[in-house]
Amino acid sequence: MIDKLLLDRWIGDAQAEDYIAWAVDLLVAGRDTPSLRILAGLNATHERSDIEEYFLRTCRELGLELLGCGDKPRDAVPLVKRLYRSGALPPEQTLHYMSRLYELSEYSDPLLGLWFALDDGFFPDEMESLEEWIDREWELFDRAVGLDLPDEFHRFVRCERCRHIGPPARPSFFASLRVLLTQGYIAADTQPSVCAKCRGSRLVRMACAEVQEDYFSRLRGGGESP
Ligand SMILES: [Zn+2]
Repeated sequence: MIDKLLLDRWIGDAQAEDYIAWAVDLLVAGRDTPSLRILAGLNATHERSDIEEYFLRTCRELGLELLGCGDKPRDAVPLVKRLYRSGALPPEQTLHYMSRLYELSEYSDPLLGLWFALDDGFFPDEMESLEEWIDREWELFDRAVGLDLPDEFHRFVRCERCRHIGPPARPSFFASLRVLLTQGYIAADTQPSVCAKCRGSRLVRMACAEVQEDYFSRLRGGGESP
């Protein structure tokens, strides 16, 4: 599976064994070049630079192109998408790769942040299946490329009372004090966030496709700013 190996290599996660296993698989499948043979015969204790060298030679001999995307993590997204759509990447792994890309962006690409947050367990309440979420997210991703999204975009929520979209707020001091006095310390410490505008408590996460669509359309129309 050259595409997946190239993606791992680009991300910096490809292990020596991955190159060797790839070469062995190709030999078994009937491909044969001088460097491919050598690569398949190496083992993980060989110098990484040797393995890399024979890998590159093998690619040249087989006429395989290396990952031709730029050096921005976002540029690798089409490859992840392709691997997912071809069935080579199951949904959980797809989520993992997208969060790795967010890490590689040094936690700075808000569009990738959404995937990272989900990988971290921030599932939207109404999410049916990860697969469905991912399918929808590709479209939203394409739509959002080119939008100037704020850094913390993936943490934004929409208030179901006043429709404000933005970062959630901590409950007020007095609300916290009331909970502390009536329900105790733990309840006060784990109080859910509220709307920054109206203090409403019914918030829907940005991971929800419909909230993203709503937000994107406001950005384009130049309506309410977050
Ligand atoms: Zn509100």
